[in-house]
Amino acid sequence: MGQLQRLAIAVHQCRHPTILLTAAQQHYLSRVLRLKEGDRFIALCSSDWWLAELCPDQTAQMIEQIAAQTELMQPITLCAALMKGQGFEDVVRAATELGVSHIVPLLSDRTLVNPSEQKLERWRRIAVEAAEQSCRQQVPEILFPIRFEQALSLCVNQDRRSGKDGLQAVQTTDGHDGQNHLICVTREETPNLLSTLGKLPKLGMLIMVGPEGGWTAAEEDLAIAQGFTPVSLGRRVLRAVTASIAAVSILSTHLESTHLKNVQE
Ligand code: SAH
Repeated sequence: MGQLQRLAIAVHQCRHPTILLTAAQQHYLSRVLRLKEGDRFIALCSSDWWLAELCPDQTAQMIEQIAAQTELMQPITLCAALMKGQGFEDVVRAATELGVSHIVPLLSDRTLVNPSEQKLERWRRIAVEAAEQSCRQQVPEILFPIRFEQALSLCVNQDRRSGKDGLQAVQTTDGHDGQNHLICVTREETPNLLSTLGKLPKLGMLIMVGPEGGWTAAEEDLAIAQGFTPVSLGRRVLRAVTASIAAVSILSTHLESTHLKNVQE
């Protein structure tokens, strides 16, 4: 199935066995990919993969469901401070490829940008493209940008409340045992992320990465006081984009190797 093109379809477009394509999807399939009537592609509907066939009148037909397991067994939430320029787009693309379930853009004391509504839409489009490209079954959810302090308090309240908004929804993903809370800091003597992972009580992960100018000492202290575990990504200071990618790579590899070990035992 590797050679078939993949296309993310919204749940409301799937009227089994018919898929109602948007004009943009029809254009992509027939003009960009040059598929003709009867040609096949893979439709990513919610977390299911379907072998689909292009039909007339902006529709496609679901042929058969394809067994696929490309998602991590536990969710990773990346809370990354926003940066100037295109940096956050690179974060969204790479984090999606690496398997995150949620991305939370953060506004912190040293964040110098305030993104427009269009930016959020653009990040969501990038996440869809990256999910298609990397054979994911789910497109990560990108939440509205929130203040760092707000993100902290939503995390802290997760065990006490069962609300449905914002990070609350992230934290109560069905069938998962909750998330550990981690914050990447460049302070000396901070334990390494990889060595910290084996000692954490839960499997799901929520990790925070600071802006180019770094967290303020007050922000780091507040997160630690609220139960976040400070972690290091090595002795070198990474740029914010690199730090997000490095952190998520370590987490996803850890989750996959832990799962593999459990399955083999
Ligand atoms: N001058 C800033 C650099 C910030 S780098 C400082 O010293 O903090 C941007 C963010 O990336 C940091 O806030 C931190 O969250 C993360 N980061 C970069 N390098 C890291 C490292 N070696 N270990 C842990 N986090 C790191």
